[in-house]
Amino acid sequence: MNVLVINAGSSSLKYQLLNPDSGAVLAKGLCERIGIDGKFTYKPQVEGKEALKEVDVAMPTHSEAIQAVLYALVDAKNGVIASMKEIDAVGHRVVHGGEAFNKSVLITDEVMKAIEDCIPLAPLHNPANLTGIRACEKVMPGVPMVAVFDTAFHQTMPAKAYMYALPYEYYETDKVRRYGFHGTSHKYVAGRAAAMLGKKSEELKLISCHLGNGSSVTAVDGGKSVDTSMGFTPLAGLPMGTRSGDLDAGILEYLMAKYNMDIKEMVSILNKKSGVLGVSGVSSDFRDLENAGKEGNKRASLSVEMFNYGVKKLIGSYAAAMGGVDAIIFTAGVGENSASQRLAIASDLEFMGVKMDAEANKVRGEEAVISAPDSKVKVLLIPTNEELMIAMDTAAIVSGK
Ligand code: ADP
Repeated sequence: MNVLVINAGSSSLKYQLLNPDSGAVLAKGLCERIGIDGKFTYKPQVEGKEALKEVDVAMPTHSEAIQAVLYALVDAKNGVIASMKEIDAVGHRVVHGGEAFNKSVLITDEVMKAIEDCIPLAPLHNPANLTGIRACEKVMPGVPMVAVFDTAFHQTMPAKAYMYALPYEYYETDKVRRYGFHGTSHKYVAGRAAAMLGKKSEELKLISCHLGNGSSVTAVDGGKSVDTSMGFTPLAGLPMGTRSGDLDAGILEYLMAKYNMDIKEMVSILNKKSGVLGVSGVSSDFRDLENAGKEGNKRASLSVEMFNYGVKKLIGSYAAAMGGVDAIIFTAGVGENSASQRLAIASDLEFMGVKMDAEANKVRGEEAVISAPDSKVKVLLIPTNEELMIAMDTAAIVSGK
């Protein structure tokens, strides 16, 4: 079976054609500047096929973008499949499923309506995801499509973890609660962790640290998300590349009054000018911060320390919340690549049974156990693969498993 995975943004569309059983990727790429001047990138993963990089393709709407993807996939010279019939299903990443979806679903008219109903919760993302779905329906009629939600994995959180201490009607009437994000990634690495440890998911208490440009940490007890650091929006939790993470809401009133800012300006600062970029004044990219730190830039070092400290505190609190932890997982850009940050985060935790192995930790981008052999709690590096998770869910649903 081949599944086409689509991640549609407002003016971009990422795609990957893969086999969910073997994990083999046939081709992947990106349509950018949809509705502007259309740039198309195609990277076949099959020997002897040539890639296309940012070539001009007219893409006034997402439909032309999908059409360009299909043409490239079946192209006589550089295509990877003989015809569209070899695409068995399409898996769509959808950011927000609200409380309506606790797992991936086959897309029907009712599902489209429910995704539309979640637009107020993700006003930038869900409309773009819907556009991607409609474009596929138009260009590939009859091919089954599945929606995979960033929020669905976290729907198992208990009320004590997802409620905010606000007047209850804001939850009942306005759906204000913690939803959590990166669910597809947390679910994937939690599944891989069980496989690596040779245990059933039901037997394990895991803490999954997805540390990238956006970061979240999730407590996974018995295969289910029981708490997560992102909240009503992805602004919550850890300090991130440019996002503040959690802060005292009183700061908003203080700064808005002092600098005569409206709420839009304030929230824009929290989303785009804060996090490690805001503290360091250098960059939102952790590689730049590490380099600047080595050259003596104290604010760059401070921003990374704050981030690492934030992750460490979440590990401690989620271990307490679950009454223990069997393994800690590092994934995403920083988690997969930065040995120094993994070490900073997971060191000095011997009191709770975590003992890192500095040598084993000198690894990048591959599955590995990075704790010492006698560490009670295993520490794992697991590269995330959201596309594979989407393809696996899609295959399971269309084949009725
Ligand atoms: P997203 O998908 O959220 O955009 P990624 O998961 O790709 O983000 O992570 C991007 C982050 O990973 C960047 O801040 C980047 O600096 C960081 N990163 C990548 N490689 C390294 C590395 N070798 N050391 C430290 N950070 C790294």
